Amino acid sequence: EKVLAIETSCDDTSVAIVNRSGWVHSVVAASQDLEHEMYGGIVPEIAARNHSIALIPLIEEAFKKAGMTWSDVDGIAVTNRPGLIGALIVGLVTAKSLSQAKKIPFLGVNHLEGHLLAPFLKDAQYAPPEDFDYPYVGLAISGGHTSLYHITELGEYRVLGATKDDAAGECFDKFAKMAGLGFPGGQRIDQMAKTGNPKAYEFPRSMIHDETFDMSFSGLKSSGQRMLEQLGPELVQEHLPDLCASFQEAIVDVLIAKLERAAKVFRSKRVILTGGVSANSRLRARAEEWAAQKGLRLVIPPLRYCTDNAAMIGYVGALRMARGEFSELDLGPSPQALATDFK
Ligand code: ATP
Ligand code: FE
Repeated sequence: EKVLAIETSCDDTSVAIVNRSGWVHSVVAASQDLEHEMYGGIVPEIAARNHSIALIPLIEEAFKKAGMTWSDVDGIAVTNRPGLIGALIVGLVTAKSLSQAKKIPFLGVNHLEGHLLAPFLKDAQYAPPEDFDYPYVGLAISGGHTSLYHITELGEYRVLGATKDDAAGECFDKFAKMAGLGFPGGQRIDQMAKTGNPKAYEFPRSMIHDETFDMSFSGLKSSGQRMLEQLGPELVQEHLPDLCASFQEAIVDVLIAKLERAAKVFRSKRVILTGGVSANSRLRARAEEWAAQKGLRLVIPPLRYCTDNAAMIGYVGALRMARGEFSELDLGPSPQALATDFK
């Protein structure tokens, strides 16, 4: 019941060996940040090319780290949606070929489902609280997604709401780029904000009091751009910590408000944060403070399982393959999350 997992949906190539209890035997990854930074964003063709270079050596490394060989795995899990098509193809075709060559089944996995079940992953350094289980409210926040879900069991994900426009991570990245902090800038804003005053500048918190679970960050992005233009490069440089802290606070306020609303409406005692933006130190601190105050169980997986990784894909694959689900060789990649259960 061990699965080899491949994740190539965006710009990180990742391979893992995982079992169906969520135990991660090994997880390895190759980042392409440096290759894309000079373009100020992800270039799909470059991502696909780098996956094709990195993938096979990473598979070998994953086996080596786990102290295993092909005879130890019973299936291959691979992300086939959503993501960049060229990037997904590299992982998918590799999984199909290996499945044929090694005579073991493979299964296409939804990347978002991986993020939502990431809180169950464990290894020698980390384990979630023992009583952690379904159902829970989950906020998936990354460069491409900002969505709120109610998760009741494997395969049962209700989309409560999502951003109407930009993802929170995209908003962080755009502001960072405009402020001259480089790409991807979420982490740099986080760092810069540590010494800044979150009340120094006024930024909008769109839809925060709205009676839905939907969000919107494009107004904040425009407002950030206007602010930077009005101040001009010199003042921006001088006030970067305050600007970053204030901008970050606007995003965190909205995310916490929506999370709170969902926990209340669904009377959920458990909430999780997942996706790259959940690395944000201010968001983590505010969410922890809020959960403690409300008596909620908050789980934020360690960063290696929050950002794009193959371990979460392997976990979903292992659970589904144990239920007898497998893919056929004509499975294709898709840019969409598919089905009504995902947005
Ligand atoms: P997906 O394809 O699921 O949308 P992704 O390619 O955006 O994923 P992730 O690694 O999940 O990949 O998320 C990356 C995003 O997280 C980037 O937008 C990045 O700026 C943001 N991010 C990372 N660290 C931080 C941080 N400390 N604070 C804020 N944002 C962060
Ligand atoms: Fe992701």
